Amino acid sequence: MKIDGHTHTELCPHGSGEPTEKMIQRAIQLGFTEYHLTEHAPLPDEFIAHYAGDPDNVATASLRWDQIDQYLALGRKLQKQFQAQIKVTVGFEIDYLADYEDTIKDFLAQVGPLTENNIISIHYLKAANGGYYGIDYSPNELHDGFSDDIQDGQRLYQRYFQTVLTSVAVDYGQFSPAKIGHMSLIKKYQDYFHLPATFSVPTMKLVKQILKVANEKKMKLDFNTAGLYKPYCNDLYPGQQILQQAQQQGVALEFGSDAHSIAEVGHGYHLFEYQSQN
Ligand SMILES: [Zn+2]
Ligand SMILES: [Zn+2]
Repeated sequence: MKIDGHTHTELCPHGSGEPTEKMIQRAIQLGFTEYHLTEHAPLPDEFIAHYAGDPDNVATASLRWDQIDQYLALGRKLQKQFQAQIKVTVGFEIDYLADYEDTIKDFLAQVGPLTENNIISIHYLKAANGGYYGIDYSPNELHDGFSDDIQDGQRLYQRYFQTVLTSVAVDYGQFSPAKIGHMSLIKKYQDYFHLPATFSVPTMKLVKQILKVANEKKMKLDFNTAGLYKPYCNDLYPGQQILQQAQQQGVALEFGSDAHSIAEVGHGYHLFEYQSQN
C-alpha cells in the first residue's frame, strides 16, 4: 500500500487550479495505490464575518458552502474513472475553531456518511485580543495576531498545541476525523521569525498529551511533506521531535503531500519510507 493521504483539488481557491484528474494520474505514475481527496471544508459564515486577520485569507481558504455538492460529485466521478488503477477516497480537511464546535459537528453529521479519511487541522488561532488570525497565510498576519508570543517562541508553540489538544479531545460523534493534519504547522514561518528549532520540555508535555488522545481515539498523524518546500519552514510537519515521540507512543503515521498542484503530488515520499523502516 502506498497512500497519499492529504491532497487538494482544482476547486481549492488558493491552489494551482490544475485538473485533479492530472494530479491522480501523477500519483498512479509514482506507484500510489491510494489517493485521499481532502479539500478544505467551508469555514463558518460567522467566523468569516468576524475575522480579525486579512480578509483575503478567509476569502480564499476553503470551499464555499454552495460548493459541497460540486466537490463530492467531482470526487465520485474521479473515484469511478480511476477505480481500476487507484483507490480514490473523498473527504475533507476540516478546520478546528474553538468557538464553532457546533458548526463542525453539524458539518460532520451531514457529510460524514458520504466521506472517508477526514482530517482535523488548525490554520487559525485565537489571539489575546479575542480575534482569530491565520498561522500559515503570511508572516505579517502571524505577527499581527501573535507578536508577543513570537518573542518567546515556546509561548507561540504552546498556544498552538493547547488548541490542537482541544481539537483532538472533542467528541465529534460517529464521524470523527481520522487524522491530525500537519501537527507542527505553527512552524511554517520558523526561519522568518527565528523561532526555536526544538520544542521545550513544557511544550513537549502538550505534544505528549495530544498523542495520547490521538492514540486513544485511533487517530493517525499526517506525515506532511509540504513544509519541506516552504521557504521559511524547511522541515517536515510534524518534524523529528514529534515523529520520535509518536513512534514511542505508538501513534500511526500516514504520508500526505498536501498537494495543491500536479508537481506536488507524492513529493518527499521517500522520507516517509525511511521513517517507516526505522
Ligand atoms: Zn490548502
Ligand atoms: Zn492544511
